[in-house]
Amino acid sequence: MNHALIVGAGIAGLSTAWALVRRGWTVTILERGPLPNPLAASSDHHRLIRWHYSDRVGYAARMGEAFAAWDDLWSDLGTRHYVETGVLALSTLEGDWTEVSCRTLDALGVPHERLSVADAIARFPHLDPDLDARFASFTPTGGALMANRIMASLADWLRAAGGEIHTDTPVTSVDPFTGSATTADGTVFRADTLVVSSGVGAPAFGLPGAPDLVPTGSTIVYARPPADLEQAWEKAPCWVDLGGHDDLWGIAPVDGLPAKLGMGILSVPGDPETERIATQERVARILGAYRGRFRSIERFSVETAQRNFYATAPEGRFVLKRADRAVLLSADSGHGFKFGALTGLDAAEAIAEPDRFESVARRMAGLAAG
Ligand SMILES: Cc1cc2nc3c(=O)[nH]c(=O)nc-3n(C[C@H](O)[C@H](O)[C@H](O)COP(=O)(O)OP(=O)(O)OC[C@H]3O[C@@H](n4cnc5c(N)ncnc54)[C@H](O)[C@@H]3O)c2cc1C
Repeated sequence: MNHALIVGAGIAGLSTAWALVRRGWTVTILERGPLPNPLAASSDHHRLIRWHYSDRVGYAARMGEAFAAWDDLWSDLGTRHYVETGVLALSTLEGDWTEVSCRTLDALGVPHERLSVADAIARFPHLDPDLDARFASFTPTGGALMANRIMASLADWLRAAGGEIHTDTPVTSVDPFTGSATTADGTVFRADTLVVSSGVGAPAFGLPGAPDLVPTGSTIVYARPPADLEQAWEKAPCWVDLGGHDDLWGIAPVDGLPAKLGMGILSVPGDPETERIATQERVARILGAYRGRFRSIERFSVETAQRNFYATAPEGRFVLKRADRAVLLSADSGHGFKFGALTGLDAAEAIAEPDRFESVARRMAGLAAG
């Protein structure tokens, strides 16, 4: 039986393990922390899944497959860790991110609604009544993937299927020629294929031919609307791009959680070991940026704020690269969770069918069908 050794139990490593087990492989996973590891890019209550992708047609075109892959996973797990809220985007300037996204959705035949600002405010009363925008774009599908629950369920499924998962087991070096990994206590694990899916930890292994993966810090704020606005938020959709240049994105209150407020332009390279504090200044900038977009944002109460890191690859593309018996997998660049289950199916296809490796890698990079 073919055997894969997987370094890193984020969504990419766990999904690849799931898809390989479905193909009859055995898997061993080595994870440096607990599972889920709060320091992993994948770790949080939830991650956004949405269709809007502006001019990144290669990724927008794969969203249908991404949703289908999650459905495959739900059916194996016997539970659905997904809250569908729909997703809203706003256009404030001609030819901006949202307007280009709408053109892409039209070209791909993806259902979406274009709403006047007055209609958007009437339908979504959490929006600021003085909202200054050209139009709103809404997809009825998309929403919150419950990330930590997905990873915990995947781990349970893998263990039940005979997979071995070693938590609190940092890998200190890998050898692509022998397909082996050495852990901090000196134990050597070996397999037919070694998958390095260790996120911001991957560059430390110095795999030959690996592209630059830059650790990028992103701050998010969890904040609750005031009691008198709770009803206005009840059916609020998640959002991506609320116009302007600050790249606002976030997740509506779901499952008893506060709203999650993000701001893309605050995502900058940094050191994941030492720069994890969500400073007051960043929190204030994020809340301030939502003024004029969400009603009475100044009355929201902040519950927590976090700074977490993802690995940015050149051009923000997903990376699948082979070096002898090792495969480097980084389907991240800050937008990888939504593709998680599909990434696993893709990576398993490339690993189990080596003739298809390069075409799958191009497909994952959003460059081609194959
Ligand atoms: C704040 C934030 C918000 C985001 N929001 C979204 C979103 O809304 N939608 C979306 O689609 N994407 C989003 N992303 C991106 C998405 O979360 C990532 O693309 C995805 O989770 C990457 O998964 P991964 O498995 O490649 O990496 P990771 O989740 O980082 O997993 C890597 C694993 O490897 C382990 N590891 C590292 N080094 C070693 C070692 N030496 N030995 C053993 N194990 C090791 C780590 O502990 C970790 O568990 C966001 C990312 C961040 C940080």
